Parts: sequence; structure tokens; C-alpha cells
Amino acid sequence: MSLATAASPTRRVLVPASVDATLPPLGGYLHEFGGGTMGTTWSVRLVAAMHLKREPVLRAIQGALDEVVDQMSTWDAESDLCRFNRAAADTWHALPGPFLDVLACARDVAERSDGAFDPTAGALVDAWGFGPAARHGVPAAGHLEQARRLAGWRRLELDPVRRSARQPGGLTLDLSAIAKGFGVDLVARRLAALGIASHLVEVGGELRGSGVKPDGQPWWVQLEHPDAHAGDTQALLALHGLSVATSGDYRRWFEHGGTRFSHTIDPRDGRPVRHGLASVTVIHAECMLADAWSTALNVLGPIAGPALANRLGLAARFIVRHDTRFEERTSAAFDDLLQ
Ligand code: ADP
Ligand code: MG
Repeated sequence: MSLATAASPTRRVLVPASVDATLPPLGGYLHEFGGGTMGTTWSVRLVAAMHLKREPVLRAIQGALDEVVDQMSTWDAESDLCRFNRAAADTWHALPGPFLDVLACARDVAERSDGAFDPTAGALVDAWGFGPAARHGVPAAGHLEQARRLAGWRRLELDPVRRSARQPGGLTLDLSAIAKGFGVDLVARRLAALGIASHLVEVGGELRGSGVKPDGQPWWVQLEHPDAHAGDTQALLALHGLSVATSGDYRRWFEHGGTRFSHTIDPRDGRPVRHGLASVTVIHAECMLADAWSTALNVLGPIAGPALANRLGLAARFIVRHDTRFEERTSAAFDDLLQ
């Protein structure tokens, strides 16, 4: 683990250890696409012939993202997820493949993070006003206790053979901390299937890059920092066969009685995290895992987070908020990416 303070002027470059020998397509041209999904925006940059037919590509991208929303949205009452959440106690439900895959991955991250990440925390998220229910402020103790009783990833049973999940009663799934990343992966796979090997896909700030730009350069991205003036500690990442996701309390929160309440909930005590982490960035081959782990490590905080990242070999950067400055902590796998 390395330590650096905002006072040490460094401009760092991160590159993946293995680089595939992708050459930019001859005569390759940069095309840009964009739109809306999951309450946020998406953008895609890709390399293809100048006369690329844009319409089928746009349809493939938006189609993939619509699929994720139709299956996993907490905000669309008719999504498969919302129907599962409303289902009667003790019933099994066949789920579409992508939904089940994301649930299985989410449960795995829940287990490895010992419940810091929890895809069944929907009732808690709602209680704190970060879900579809229009609610604000600190919930009453009774309400919170009830939401805590309903949550718990151990209550989620999956049957991989019948590709179904069991609703034990009142279990409220929330995949908001993993679905954007999965959407990015799905779009990247659909583009690859169309023969478009060089692309940069982004949904709500989570990114995945493959191949290279027309000039042979990788897709360079600057890692997000909660302090817009942190030019001194900038980190540039070559997004080549890699994804990056950031979870941070500077993005969505509310203030009550002088306290800042994050939209990241610690399912172990049912309350918004409040340990002074401003953000956690995770770099991983799969955007779904970068997304989920950035939230999981954010919940774990500035001490347990880096410890688990090191134990699991995750490339992660933690920005700790102090009174007048930010402090950076990085995992060993993150440092390995530094050139
Ligand atoms: P961030 O980029 O800050 O991680 P995300 O949108 O990826 O934000 O995830 C935050 C959302 O995930 C919350 O709005 C909530 O719906 C859900 N969530 C909050 N806490 C947890 C948790 N501990 N485990 C899983 N999902 C959570
Ligand atoms: Mg996230």
C-alpha cells in the first residue's frame, strides 16, 4: 500500500500488465454515440470505417441497456426485479439469464465482503430516501428496524439449474450498485459481436475500454477525484482490456443537522456509511465487478477496505477525506499498474 498526500505533486500513469497486439483498423475512424439509461447518461466511442451504418450500432447499444433496465431496474415497476420484490412469500421465480448472472455475481461479492455489499438492501435504501419511494431525511427507528429485518443476502436462494430465485417474503433486491457496470459489459460484448473491437463504453461514469484509438493510442481516462482541484495527484489510466468504476459520497447524499448522509448504506448496521471515505475507485477486467467492488470497499472504509483489496488482489484507490485535505491509499494491485 502506498501513501501520498495532496501536497505531493505527482502525475501518474497506469497501464495494464498484458497488452494485446490490437492494431487500429486501417482507415479506422472515431465514431461517437450517446443517450440516456438508468437515470443517467451513456456514451460510446468506437473505431470503425468512416461509412459505418450508425443506426444498427445505436440500436444494439440502446437495446442492450434497455434489456438491463427491463430486467433489473428498481425504478420501473414492471421490471423483472420489481415483480420479484412484490412476489408472495415462499415462491420460486424463473429469471432471465442476465438478471440471474448479475444476482449470482452480486451474492458472491456479498459473501466475499462479508455483507458489506448486499443486493438485498433495497428496503434499507428506500428507508433512507435513496430508492424509488419519495422519502427524505432520517427514518424512524421502527421503520429502520423493519427494513433491516427484510434485508440479508443469506435469505437469497438461487437455483442455477432451474435458473430461478426464491422470494422468501419481503426480500427487496436493489442492483443499482452493480447494474450500470453490467450494462457497460453487455454493450462492450454486443459491440465486439458486431466486429467492433476498439471501443470505450461508459454508463454513469463507469467505463470499459478495449483495443486502441485510430492513432494507435489506448483510451486514456483520468481517474475521478472528489477534489476538482486535485490536478497535482492526477492519475491517467490506459483503459485497454480494463474497466474502472468509482463509488463516492460526493456524488449523491443529503444533509441533515449538519451531517452528510451518503447513498451508500452499510447493511451491517443499516445506516449510511460515515467513515470519511470520499471515494473508492476499482480497476478490473469486468466493469460489473469494478462497480460492485467499488461500493463494497466503500462500505468497508479506509482501513478494512484496503486490507480486503490486498487480500483479494483487487486494484483499488481510496480517497480519505480529512478536514482540510484528501489522502490517497492504494492497494498493491493498483500500484502494480503504475508505470
Ligand atoms: P456509487 O457510484 O456511489 O457506488 P452506485 O449507483 O454505483 O453509486 O451505487 C449506489 C446505489 O447502490 C445506492 O443508491 C443503492 O441503491 C445501492 N446500495 C447502497 N448501499 C449498498 C450496499 N451496501 N450494497 C449494495 N448496494 C447498495
Ligand atoms: Mg457503484
